[in-house]
Amino acid sequence: MLLDVKDLHKTYQTADGPFAVLRGIDLQLAAGETLALTGESGSGKSTLLHLIGGLDTVDRGAILIEGQDIAKADDTARAALRRGTVGVVFQQFNLIPSLTVADNIAFQARLAGRHDPAWTDALTDRLGLTEQRGKYPEQLSGGQQQRVAIARTLAPRPKLVLADEPTGNLDEDTASKVMDLMLDLVAETGAGLLMVTHSQALAGRLGRRLHLRSGLLA
Ligand code: ADP
Ligand code: MG
Repeated sequence: MLLDVKDLHKTYQTADGPFAVLRGIDLQLAAGETLALTGESGSGKSTLLHLIGGLDTVDRGAILIEGQDIAKADDTARAALRRGTVGVVFQQFNLIPSLTVADNIAFQARLAGRHDPAWTDALTDRLGLTEQRGKYPEQLSGGQQQRVAIARTLAPRPKLVLADEPTGNLDEDTASKVMDLMLDLVAETGAGLLMVTHSQALAGRLGRRLHLRSGLLA
């Protein structure tokens, strides 16, 4: 199994006391599978994605990625997973302002020692970014920035792609096209995709759908 989440718990300490946002999450995803995660705003979707992506620490439970429990991994092992095995597309793009589009796209793949120029060029072309290669993020539209973020994430060919409302900032038409591309590209790499969305239409295009409510999945 590519991803196996077992009895995952996460509580935030807030000014009003502890807030249990995840209260026993179980979730499995095989390579090549696509899964939509829906839920009200504030239900914990981003929290779950961040935990699976090794960006935050769990309180209880296991997150096995190809059998390795990242909840128990040290910082070095988690960083290695983030660079190569797991790719995250953030809602806010998180592009590097001082790097060109081409360098943003290649950045993580280079860090991971997995830079494949032919694949990077193909991604750039398919995502319609070839003419933007020499530009900087601030010179791009929101839709273009989102496509750079997707290309950057796919460049190292991660086995698990996590996407947090990857088309949330785009109009419906553009969102639909970007989704098509992302699904095609993920399918070509054979990766598993876990995507947060609150669009029922987009969720319906993925293989499975789970809904997060009151800290539990259904
Ligand atoms: P979603 O992505 O589904 O909108 P989030 O995972 O971002 O939900 O947040 C779930 C809940 O946890 C929200 O009520 C949010 O305010 C709270 N929360 C998120 N991050 C933190 C944090 N670092 N500290 C305290 N509370 C947080
Ligand atoms: Mg969120």
